[in-house]
Amino acid sequence: MGFQIRTQGLEVSSLSRKKLHESARYAYHLAASHPHFLFALMADSDTISFTVSHRGFQHRLSILPDSTLADLHATLEELTTVPPSMQKLLYKNSPKAAHDEMTLREAGLKNGIKVQMVGSTLQELDSLQAKEAEQRKRDRILRERALKAPVKVRSTASSSTTDHLYRFHELIPLPHLPDPDSALAVLRRLSNDKAIRHVMQLHKFSVGILTELDPRERPDLLGLNTNQGQEIKLRLRTDSYDGFRVYSQVRRTLCHELAHNVFGPHDNNFKELNSQLNREVAEFERAAAEGTHRRGRHAPPSWGRHVRT
Ligand SMILES: [Zn+2]
Repeated sequence: MGFQIRTQGLEVSSLSRKKLHESARYAYHLAASHPHFLFALMADSDTISFTVSHRGFQHRLSILPDSTLADLHATLEELTTVPPSMQKLLYKNSPKAAHDEMTLREAGLKNGIKVQMVGSTLQELDSLQAKEAEQRKRDRILRERALKAPVKVRSTASSSTTDHLYRFHELIPLPHLPDPDSALAVLRRLSNDKAIRHVMQLHKFSVGILTELDPRERPDLLGLNTNQGQEIKLRLRTDSYDGFRVYSQVRRTLCHELAHNVFGPHDNNFKELNSQLNREVAEFERAAAEGTHRRGRHAPPSWGRHVRT
């Protein structure tokens, strides 16, 4: 497996020692007898050079195109300590079903491409799990308390305890498109949208990554849901890239994609759920505008005021 990695000035090589010797000897032989051959040899074995950004670090890699994604993941593990199974690579035209044996060429990795890597290290995972255990403990205490004083606690504990589960876990604008900060602001607005949060709680929707869909990547699509909520991509930009699409339309697309968390094909089940979601969003906003939501049928007025005797 041929490999050459340059990262932040450091050069690492994981060419097998034997191969390295062979190619060095061959190159030396060629250069000695025919100097112009060395150049030809170098040009021939051209590597793919690209940057992988992870948490603000730019890793410049230069890798032979026949290396596999597994090789790339192993290299990135060395550089970032993120285990391969938790690395997610985002770049333009990345294949839908990438697998470890795919070569970099097959995976669409080209010279100069900008790759963004998302992933957590094992330590971070441990602390996340610790946090979740802590949250479970808190939930259990709340549940036990709710059993002792069912009415009083239920009214406050209904949504807050599951808030952290049914949401978008990561928001990622596309770094190669102009003004990613504004794109991030739109993603944040969607993920904090009270009506969307309401619907996600109601249907227990959890989405790993909310990101944008490059209009050039799939000109035919406004949104895309991968693996029922692993990732939702939304087209945020106008086709001419000079601005952002109208928020309410992007949000409608989001409802459509959220319905794909449950149903894959656009059958009647899907259509029903999709219009239900849009209805729930509209109802939520109407109720919020009238200030009746909290005291509506979800929680009768007596709950809030009910006092344990
Ligand atoms: Zn669809």
